[in-house]
Amino acid sequence: MFELITLPYAPEALAPAISPETIAFHHGKHLQTYVNNLNAAIAGTAFEGNPLEEIVRTAEGGIFNNAGQILNHNLYFLQFRAPRENNAPEGRIAELIDSQYGSFEAFQKEFAAKGAGLFGSGWVWLSADKDGKLVITQEANAGNPLTRGLKPLLTFDVWEHAYYIDWRNARPAYISALWSIINWDEVNARL
Ligand code: MN
Repeated sequence: MFELITLPYAPEALAPAISPETIAFHHGKHLQTYVNNLNAAIAGTAFEGNPLEEIVRTAEGGIFNNAGQILNHNLYFLQFRAPRENNAPEGRIAELIDSQYGSFEAFQKEFAAKGAGLFGSGWVWLSADKDGKLVITQEANAGNPLTRGLKPLLTFDVWEHAYYIDWRNARPAYISALWSIINWDEVNARL
């Protein structure tokens, strides 16, 4: 049985980027539904008891969609902390971003363009490839870059349910606001 993750911050801690109302719906209802649906779908199948990543790598259809959305949302919600001014990357991820993109600003521009430009529902990702090189990818719906052999490091959910309560249709403003709440220690830990 999979369980809803517990958030490592209070529901109001991420405001104004993400309001407590969005947390209540996005974590408390959307993510809980994916957990309930996956548990029901895998009961009595060969997937029961398998780790989430393995289900995402091997399943198709509804089982893939619900498992992918649980993994994606776990990575999303666990990468945040209370807002900081000038919340620039630190440590190893900062070095990699600077050496590959030239600056954090240039990286943000490319990442934001891929998030804003994704048609429909999905996710924009920063991952590391097998040589440790950074890659920015778009994934539709429940997609996760681990199915392409990449190691996911950072992700912005660009499904409308992620931002419509706080930012209405302004997806670029939501993307811009998320930079203030990224926990770069967590991103480094995933490297
Ligand atoms: Mn979502």
